[in-house]
Amino acid sequence: MYDVVIIGCGVVGAAAAYELARYDLKVAVLEAENDVATGSSKANSAILHAGYDPRPGSLMAKLNVEGNRLAFEIAHRLNVPVERCGSLVVAFNEKDKEHLQELYRRGIENGVPDLSIISGEQARELEPNLDPGVKGALLAESAGIISPWDYTLAMAEVAVKNGVELFLNTRVTSIEKDEVFHIRSSKGKEFETRYVINAAGVNSDIVAEMVGEREFSVRPVGGEYFLLDKSEGSRVSRVIFQCPNELGKGVLVSRTVHGNLIVGPDAVNSVRNDKGVTAEGLNYVRRTALRSVPSIQFRDNIRNFAGIRANTEFDEFCIGESRSAKGFLNLAGIKSPGLTAAAAIGVYARELLDGMGLELRKKDEFDDTRPVIRFKELPDEEKNRLIKEDPAYGRVICRCETVTEAEIVAALHSVIPASSINGVKRRCSAGMGRCQGGFCSPRVLRIIARELGIDETEVLEEGEGSNVLYSRLKEV
Ligand SMILES: Cc1cc2nc3c(=O)[nH]c(=O)nc-3n(C[C@H](O)[C@H](O)[C@H](O)COP(=O)(O)OP(=O)(O)OC[C@H]3O[C@@H](n4cnc5c(N)ncnc54)[C@H](O)[C@@H]3O)c2cc1C
Repeated sequence: MYDVVIIGCGVVGAAAAYELARYDLKVAVLEAENDVATGSSKANSAILHAGYDPRPGSLMAKLNVEGNRLAFEIAHRLNVPVERCGSLVVAFNEKDKEHLQELYRRGIENGVPDLSIISGEQARELEPNLDPGVKGALLAESAGIISPWDYTLAMAEVAVKNGVELFLNTRVTSIEKDEVFHIRSSKGKEFETRYVINAAGVNSDIVAEMVGEREFSVRPVGGEYFLLDKSEGSRVSRVIFQCPNELGKGVLVSRTVHGNLIVGPDAVNSVRNDKGVTAEGLNYVRRTALRSVPSIQFRDNIRNFAGIRANTEFDEFCIGESRSAKGFLNLAGIKSPGLTAAAAIGVYARELLDGMGLELRKKDEFDDTRPVIRFKELPDEEKNRLIKEDPAYGRVICRCETVTEAEIVAALHSVIPASSINGVKRRCSAGMGRCQGGFCSPRVLRIIARELGIDETEVLEEGEGSNVLYSRLKEV
């Protein structure tokens, strides 16, 4: 019998697990896919928002500002790439400038630190590649950028290290309740638990309905992106937003923590799990982004992708105990700024469970560390020492990102081991560079097969059915 079962291991499920792992509880996380962070937490803008956008007084505003503070703290502690680069919302006309005033007012009410409105000239001094038509900007120095999948993985890894049980490839299919919850899953295994956390992202309404009436409906909104080569990574230093609208925060231009330039997203009503991109969507993104930063060289695009926002009919996260099932906590409809808010949502979830009657006793020991070796960032003496210790550090597999065989092997035997080519990529960046795995993925594939003791035809690119090789050619 578990005390708490968390459904879904995106950034919200991982943050809840990370928080609950500090307590003397039996906790399980059930994730439908073969890895953590494969939903919205993988495909987003990767921005730690300052918190001037949500409505003052809302839960979203509170969790955004607190989540921003916690995200930097946790990312630094757990070796997650993060940078407090600041952001600008740019105004092109008087109406936009009025909007900036409104955002500023909200930000002050929400308790956002280091917020100011600056002129177009001041904005161009900070960001010389801004369009000459920019008439003013809201500067938020507390905004930042992060690796969203590494953040999710880091919190999930620490949770697992501290006793939380993670079940991958385990899709929840039905839930029954008597004195406790009985959760059935695609694995055939039944999980019994006193409390449930629903962190199932775009499926959170479906999971909520497994125990009761519909209290909210997910209305998926897709967002498409360009990811440009590092040659474009210094086009801007801060996150450049345009004025947001009711569907999303508008098209942005930003550096990523890996040194690329990210441009997007649009906001189009979509269907769950449709991660395809369209010429129409991308053209809109390109056209809109060029208004803010006209010199972006889109020919240096190395990848397009899309993410799905778990928007609902409410202008708020759907957080709280289900009206139909006591002990069932929804952390649902976590749209943007959910990545930023996640850590604060995790803490709030623990407080809510406390109020719902869960007995909480802090563990005497909690290992809140996560050592990571990123070979290319090390000084030469350290590199030489590692190569002497393990010659696999001397074999560079991903040339674009300088990722060594030893780092790939480590990813395949880590606390939450990678089981696919993209899983390796999320853990050590192999395949993330300019050639997008064109050169290294056959070599990564071979290492995966060798390390996991499987045939090369069984190696997956990402989820179930994404086998890279179809069959072996007969030898002649
Ligand atoms: C285009 C876009 C841009 C965004 N930009 C930002 C940004 O810059 N900054 C920011 O703060 N936020 C941003 N967000 C929002 C942020 O990405 C999300 O709020 C956050 O990732 C939500 O996390 P989650 O854990 O709730 O959902 P997810 O990451 O989707 O995780 C849900 C998990 O539940 C699993 N699951 C679903 N159904 C089941 C089931 N039946 N059984 C078991 N498991 C199940 C899924 O496989 C998935 O892994 C953006 C979102 C999008 C889509």
